[in-house]
Order: sequence, then structure tokens, then C-alpha cells
Amino acid sequence: MGLFKPLDNLENDKKELAGDQEAERVKCLIIGSGPAGYTAAIYAARANLKPVLYEGLEPGGQLTTTTEVENYPGYPEGITGPKMMEDFKKQAERFGTKCRSGIATSVDLSSAPYEVTIDDKHILMTDALIIATGATARYLGLESEEKFKGSGVSACATCDGFFYKEKDVAVTGGGDSACEEALYLAGLCRKVYMIIRKDHMRASKIMQERVFNTPNIEVLFERNTKELRGKEVLEEAVLTRKKGEPDESEEVIKIDGFFLAIGHTPNSQIFKDYIETDDLGYIKTIPGTSKTNIPGVFACGDIQDPAYRQAVTAAGSGCQAAIDAERYLAEKGI
Ligand code: NDP
Repeated sequence: MGLFKPLDNLENDKKELAGDQEAERVKCLIIGSGPAGYTAAIYAARANLKPVLYEGLEPGGQLTTTTEVENYPGYPEGITGPKMMEDFKKQAERFGTKCRSGIATSVDLSSAPYEVTIDDKHILMTDALIIATGATARYLGLESEEKFKGSGVSACATCDGFFYKEKDVAVTGGGDSACEEALYLAGLCRKVYMIIRKDHMRASKIMQERVFNTPNIEVLFERNTKELRGKEVLEEAVLTRKKGEPDESEEVIKIDGFFLAIGHTPNSQIFKDYIETDDLGYIKTIPGTSKTNIPGVFACGDIQDPAYRQAVTAAGSGCQAAIDAERYLAEKGI
């Protein structure tokens, strides 16, 4: 990793690397811009850690793909996800956080200060690293699904639902996200099928009730999607019933849109050589803290939370990460 200058002037300090590359030197780097990243930034900025935050692939995170957030305390009338994230960002910037667009493409966490490369070219060296990279929507992995991405297949009803106004669509999944997507689409589309692989839903009772009380949603239990078909754009889905059983049968539903809501994959790939994750790829933290197995590297939000995954729990863990980073830097005398 080579030598670097002392942290006397964070704004201008640059570290010489091998070759002609220069690294920007920071005290606290935050990767990710959902409720966890922005909350970490608010706390880190107010603690004078001069945080730099990179927004990543989806600025504002998953909340920018939801409509109404009704369960975040302090908003009795609800608030839209994008507006909420805009407010979080403004609050982080008000205390001096530098929010930048860019994606962390690789890291070297073998020794401190830690090296993070943005967009394969810009290198930063940081004393404390806060990972808030969240999780990404999953797809079924069908070949035909790939073919219709952008012309019938989507993982975000609030982004793409508008294109299917007065049309027939399907939502795959039986969790809260699937119910939320189906309910949103039911307000726009003529008919919404919910394709659920089990004989029951995983979603909370209140969401299930809303789904069952919506006349233009038809729930299809014990179905899997075998194939999506269409000439240029999606026209129909082939479903199998009771997959793998002797009475397996096929049925075809005519649809213009196919929405996925089957969970998420944690965005931890670039950290895996250094940071301990569970079998699903969620970063492991020391219980009750945001500390990872590497001193000075902290994780918050959905990247370390397979269980709750709520905006409010993500924000809470972002606060923990900033406080943990502040204490770590103080102990190191940085
Ligand atoms: P979940 O993991 O809760 O649900 C995923 C759903 O997709 C399950 O029904 C699962 O089926 C199904 N599924 C997974 N893989 C496949 C596959 N290959 N083929 C077919 N179906 C599949 O994810 P969510 O995104 O719904 O929710 C994540 C978390 O966020 C939850 O804790 C949820 O409560 C929360 N949430 C809360 C909301 C709210 O309160 N308004 C809104 C959205 C999310 P199976 O059950 O068979 O495994």
C-alpha cells in the first residue's frame, strides 16, 4: 500500500501510489446512499469526521423504488420514498458531507488506511470505512426473462408500472414487497396476477388482507414461471403447477408486464476477500455493533441485515456505524 502523508489537510491531501495514480485521502468514507448511508453521514459530519459519501448504482437506494412510506416515525401522513431520501441527503449535506455519484468497484482492506477505488479509476484512502451498499433485487434466472428486460420484465413496479396502464400484468413472489407491488399495480392496471410458489404467502397479515380485498388481483398459489413468451415484447407467461410432482401441469396467462418481487441479494461482492459474510453474502457484524472483522470497517443497513430490512432499522444502524467510526478514530488518535 505504500507510504502516505499525515492527515494535516484532508481537503488537499493526496497519497502517491505506484505509477502516476494519486489517491485522495479521507478520514471517513461511506459507500451507499440509502437510509443507512445518509444517517451515517449525518452523524459522521456532525462529529467532524468530514465524510465523503459515494451514492452507488441506485442513488437513494431501494426506497427510491417504493411509493408511500407509512411506517417511518415522524411522518404521520406518510412520505414518498424518493422525497424521504432527498431530505436525508439534504440533511447530510447541511453538516458538510460530500455526496458524490460513483460506484465502488474494488477495495484493498489488507491494512489501514483502506483503499477504495471508485468507477475503476478514482482511488481513495480512508481511515474509517462505512459500508452501506444495501441489497439488489433478484430475478428468476430464466433465459426468456433476460430477453424481455426493459420490454415487459421489471423488478420495480413503481418505476415501470406506468407503462402498463390498463394492461394485464403479473407479480412473482409472496412477501411484503410482492404485495406492495401488486397493490400499486392494481391501481394502474386492468388485472394483476400474483404468482406464488407455495400454498401460502409469507407477507404480513395486513398486506395479505389488502391483496385479497382488491378485486382486480388474482392470487395463483403453487405456481412457478417456466417461460416468458412474445414476439418483440412480452405477451404471455407459461406457469407450472406443483413443480416436480406427478400432477405437474402447465397453464398460460396473457400478460404485458412481469414484475419480480422475490427478495434481494446483498451487495457485498467487492468486500468478500476481506470481510466475513454469511452464506447468503450478508456482512457479519459483531452483535450489537456495526463492527466487521476488520478494525475501522463498519457495516450498516441491508448489507448486514437479512432479518428486518426496514428504513428505520437501516437508519438506526447507520447511526451506530458513525458512532463506532468516531470512537475508533478517537482511540487511534486520528
Ligand atoms: P421476502 O424474502 O420476504 O419474500 C420473497 C418472496 O419471494 C417469498 O414469497 C419467496 O417465496 C419468493 N421467492 C423467492 N425466490 C423465488 C423464486 N425463485 N421463485 C418464486 N418465488 C420466489 O422478500 P421481500 O422483498 O418481500 O421483503 C423483504 C423484507 O422487507 C421483509 O422483511 C418484509 O417484511 C420487508 N418489507 C416490508 C414492507 C412493508 O412493511 N410495507 C414492504 C416491503 C418489504 P417463499 O416464501 O416460498 O420462500
